[in-house]
Amino acid sequence: MALLWATGSAAADRISISAELDTTCRTIAGWVTVTWPSLNRPFSDVEFRLYANMRTNKFGPAGPGQLSDSTYTLVDTLLCGEVDVTNKSRAEGTDLYCPTDRTYAMGEALTVRLHFTTHVGTLSRGVDRLFQAGGEYLLDGWFPMPAPHRDGQWINVKYEGLTELVADFFDFDVRLTVPESLRAIGAGLTAADTTGGKVTYSYSLPEAHDFALYLSPAMEMKRYPHGSTAISIYTSRHNAYLADAIADVCGKTLDHIGGWVAPYPFPELQVVVCEIGFVGGIELPRMIILSEPPAGQFLGFKDVVAIHEVAHQWFYGIIASDQARTPWMDEAVSDYFTERVARTLYGENNFLDWWGITLDYSGLQRLQGLPAFDRLPITMPAEQYYSMSQYAATVYNKGAVTLRTLFNQLKPGDEESFWHRYYELYHFATPGESDFLRLISEYEPFVGNDIASRVLHNSQAVDYVIERIANEPFPTMAGSADSVPEAGKSGRRYRITVEYAMYHPIDLPVTLRLSFADGKIRDTTLAPVSGQGKLALEEDEPIISATLDPEWRIGLDKDLLNNSLSLNGNGSGLRLFSGITFLVESLFSYLWGM
Ligand SMILES: [Zn+2]
Repeated sequence: MALLWATGSAAADRISISAELDTTCRTIAGWVTVTWPSLNRPFSDVEFRLYANMRTNKFGPAGPGQLSDSTYTLVDTLLCGEVDVTNKSRAEGTDLYCPTDRTYAMGEALTVRLHFTTHVGTLSRGVDRLFQAGGEYLLDGWFPMPAPHRDGQWINVKYEGLTELVADFFDFDVRLTVPESLRAIGAGLTAADTTGGKVTYSYSLPEAHDFALYLSPAMEMKRYPHGSTAISIYTSRHNAYLADAIADVCGKTLDHIGGWVAPYPFPELQVVVCEIGFVGGIELPRMIILSEPPAGQFLGFKDVVAIHEVAHQWFYGIIASDQARTPWMDEAVSDYFTERVARTLYGENNFLDWWGITLDYSGLQRLQGLPAFDRLPITMPAEQYYSMSQYAATVYNKGAVTLRTLFNQLKPGDEESFWHRYYELYHFATPGESDFLRLISEYEPFVGNDIASRVLHNSQAVDYVIERIANEPFPTMAGSADSVPEAGKSGRRYRITVEYAMYHPIDLPVTLRLSFADGKIRDTTLAPVSGQGKLALEEDEPIISATLDPEWRIGLDKDLLNNSLSLNGNGSGLRLFSGITFLVESLFSYLWGM
């Protein structure tokens, strides 16, 4: 089913918010006004999402005692145009449903106004993206947001622990009043007016599907002009030394992905280094939140988190996706681009360089994704993964490996063409999985078959194995006792046998590379046939090794160690360690029992 949703009218759908934060009660109260200037389908009801009720919903109706430190949103007034329809509305957990006062025809304008109060709980009782701690507030999902509307119906996805906010694009106008002691950080700032100990911040953010804020009493800001984009880095005073390096990696990521997909089209990128709440990063429209980088040996950690969140500015921010139903479409794609940027910036040993053990980010993705290779597809809705670690291993890590496996099959130049067209077709829209597959199936070797779809949905144990290689010498006529051997000829030839196996191969030809004793290398293309196979040939030189898929184009192969076999001096087989990544991989699988 196509999930493409684009507004059919020239005037953009708008959301205006006017609200005030009360730090004593820890509530934000105010009005949300949603305007559809020209409906592109008839409306007889509206649905909103109350993200803040994620936990209160999960644990049943909360009593007053529980509510005092929970995170939740209450809506006390709902107006359709001028008609009060509050009594007809029904809130259930994260969903608010209300029939409109009458049916609105296609082409008509509709304005819906809600008065809401959101209580912001402390970190331990709140939700991941909406909490207060140590006087700081992270406000995401803090106001009632229209549910996504696709193919003529409201999309009703229950928010669970792993699901991120899902919505359609709107032009936002936000006015938030906060005590003067807090600094508000958000994208699209147009004014900050101080009166009577309070500051009213005004924001204008077009083409966004969320609007989030970070409030802090003590953040410092450094601004870095980068082409036509200003990168603003917010840190505490003691983390201010990080700002230059973060701005540098964010700027380079904007440049690289800008070249590979489409230039970053916005004048700003806000980056907040947050010291509470989580480890990792959060993507928001034109803004990212990074956790304070941990100390440790994993030198690349802070950089890959920043790169990943900047990648989301395209694959989430501009090309939206349903983050609840198809989380791979933003997470796997962003982590796939994270690896490309990391490799471009830092070369092959970009993640870990510790006592001579090095690891690149693609190796780490493989390592972390391996437990999911033959268990779960990357394409499930977020709530079907039962833990954060399983979700990350499958959707992010196996997801990036899966996309690499797909794009490795394209001809040179075709991947660039794919991403340029993907952007052209779907910027400020919400493509679904079928849209992605339809486009990639316009490129060989995926034309006219369903191979791309099967790779994307794979949960089989893909494995390519060299099982045995042998050279059996036999004398030739030239080498017989009655004649003089020709110069340069040994007088012997070899019957060469290569026994291999393919388990759940992807349905594309695979390369078998033979290395001969004289240094010659020969590639043979094998058809993908499940099960065991044998190659027999006669040659002047013996082979010293055989490798299936020598360029590792099929990253989903769950065991790369058995892809090659070489002969040592006494003719017995020896597994070929082709790179330090494999060494680390086998070390880690030994240590962690993966
Ligand atoms: Zn992400």
